[in-house]
Amino acid sequence: MKGLAGKNALITGASSGIGQAIAIRLAQEGCNIAINYRKRQEEAEDTKEMAIQKACEQLEECSVRSLLVQGDVSQEEDIIEMVNTVIEKFGSLDILVNNAGIQIQKASHEVTADEFDKVISVNLRGAYLCAREVIRHFLSRDRGGAIINISSVHEIIPRPLYVSYSISKGGMENLTKTLALEYANRGIRVNAIGPGATITPMNKAWIDDLQKKAVVESHIPMGRAGNSDEMAAAVAFLASEEAAYITGQTLFIDGGLTLYADFREPWSA
Ligand code: NAD
Repeated sequence: MKGLAGKNALITGASSGIGQAIAIRLAQEGCNIAINYRKRQEEAEDTKEMAIQKACEQLEECSVRSLLVQGDVSQEEDIIEMVNTVIEKFGSLDILVNNAGIQIQKASHEVTADEFDKVISVNLRGAYLCAREVIRHFLSRDRGGAIINISSVHEIIPRPLYVSYSISKGGMENLTKTLALEYANRGIRVNAIGPGATITPMNKAWIDDLQKKAVVESHIPMGRAGNSDEMAAAVAFLASEEAAYITGQTLFIDGGLTLYADFREPWSA
């Protein structure tokens, strides 16, 4: 895609699932990739290996660089160190993908303050602090940049039993829009994708159970769950110059999940 070759990208939570697919896709587009991981260095190594291999299969000149950066996005000092390390090693940063995310399932009246804070501090506060650090860098070099937040269909669909997750993704919509508006005239674009049900480790509760998977897929108008590559393709587009005039938007990639499937048939004849 236009304008991605040679760009430097940082992807948080890139040792698995959607983050891993984004790192691989951006490398295939010729970006240098910084792969953030919290704990699982071996998996981050796998991301690096796959990204370089696939990029080199695809690109005529394979000069893609990659970097593993440990850091917990719920910790401000980790974020500052992570962003500084990437800028120091790559020389600059052009793209941030706020992908790291967690969820806790519990009835809303039983969630403790610590559990609530844990989810918000990774999914929302972490995304904001990463964006803040990267925006400081974008402004310092006056060349703009792109931020893509990995939100969810639960940005707009309420999700009982996952109250902190729902709130974090609802907040992400306003994070995306607020930053987009604030920095639009300084060459910084901020967008989001809203994945629907996607085959990743986060959904281990149903992806390997055919019956449960069928129930999930019965609610999706297109009749199937999405995959990480489909999410990564949209992120590459939003990061690229093909999306140069797009900012403040969430692109839902959900097989029609946000189309109110219950209205497919008339409720009364
Ligand atoms: P995943 O569990 O494979 O990925 C989450 C990643 O975040 C993991 O690599 C994990 O190590 C990392 N992470 C967690 N806490 C972290 C922290 N404190 N610091 C740094 N990294 C941390 O699941 P996934 O489905 O690939 O999720 C990626 C993103 O996509 C999340 O933001 C999630 O909310 C969003 N999403 C997923 C789905 C889905 O159906 N899978 C749907 C909508 C949105």
